[in-house]
Amino acid sequence: MTSVDNSRPILATIHLDALRSNLARIKTATTLAGDAKVWAVVKANAYGHGVRHTFEGLRGADGFACLDLTEAEAIRSMGWRGPVMLLEGAFSARDLETCSRLNLWHVIHCEQQIDWLAAHKTNEPQRVFLKLNSGMNRLGFKPAQYRAAYARLTALSQVAEVSHLTHFSDADNDSFAGITKMSQQWQCFQATTQDLDGESSLANSAAALHLGRPHGDWSGGDWVRAGVALYGGAPDYPAQTAGDWGLRSAMTLSSRIVSVQEIAAGDAVGYGSAFVADHTMRIGTVACGYADGYPRHASLASHGVPVFVDGQRTRTLGRISMDMLAVDLTTLPSSGFGSRVTLWGHADPLDTKSAVLSIDEVAAAAATISYELMCAVAARVPFVVME
Ligand SMILES: *Cc1c(COP(=O)(O)O)cnc(C)c1O
Repeated sequence: MTSVDNSRPILATIHLDALRSNLARIKTATTLAGDAKVWAVVKANAYGHGVRHTFEGLRGADGFACLDLTEAEAIRSMGWRGPVMLLEGAFSARDLETCSRLNLWHVIHCEQQIDWLAAHKTNEPQRVFLKLNSGMNRLGFKPAQYRAAYARLTALSQVAEVSHLTHFSDADNDSFAGITKMSQQWQCFQATTQDLDGESSLANSAAALHLGRPHGDWSGGDWVRAGVALYGGAPDYPAQTAGDWGLRSAMTLSSRIVSVQEIAAGDAVGYGSAFVADHTMRIGTVACGYADGYPRHASLASHGVPVFVDGQRTRTLGRISMDMLAVDLTTLPSSGFGSRVTLWGHADPLDTKSAVLSIDEVAAAAATISYELMCAVAARVPFVVME
């Protein structure tokens, strides 16, 4: 296929300095808690930012945690020789060949994975993270089965080292109920693993950020697994904002106004005439829609979803279309055709000192979380990486 230079104005800008700063922020939190190492979690193609786009910003991490082999392969192909882990381990016996070839560490969460390992032919024993189901009931061995799985693994010639891993279900919840769950799951992990050899990995972003805080007597383990915070999302929004945590926006999704309409009271906007003006308005049509990954759910927000136009705050109107959405320009008389629109991130994508429209705020207005918005940015959106 020959490539043309698309001039449709939508663009995702990755801010390497923000990635570096967020990684440093996580490191500060983990240092307070006894100097844990940090996995940069780059599953879902680095939460939609692109493994290749983010690598330079995240290479200060101690390792990369991936979901699938494509991501692991991308990390290795960029010359990373340090630890790379598969967060859900092998999905088939064949994956272990790739683990051997690329020297990947991998999670073991079920008996089938141990069977595959026992049948795997390799001269290089592998490092594995045995996963405890401490209460989330998604992956992992129940406490009663954990020690038998550990014994099975340590007896295998294919295994070099076994570490312990669990995932907290409520680390982002600062309420009494959330803190209670956290300490139950931590105690479950402690009781099950404390007399077994091996490093540990417990905390996600929310747990890692809370490490520096007073409540809870749990630990993040030797390896913290940081995802959303590296990309500038607050894991516990709205209890805390990214700004509260000292996190910076790592992605700006921007576009431009491609049409302006003047409408009168009673006129409607977009599909289903879902927005009806009650006074004279100026409407801007933005080159961004749900096929770009913008949440169509935003259509349901009764007061629209916040948007910046020329750095000024306004809102979406009516339904989000596949390729377009409408914004209110009534109070922005100097904005119009060609004006820059920020869907989230910086008012000026080239200036990381410019105002930020928080992705958490956009997500909340669209009844979702920043994670989903980041991951959903579509393949048709061009990316640029900013030093
Ligand atoms: C996604 C994931 C993480 C990272 O979670 P964040 O909330 O984004 O920090 C950590 N551990 C596991 C097992 C995960 O799947």
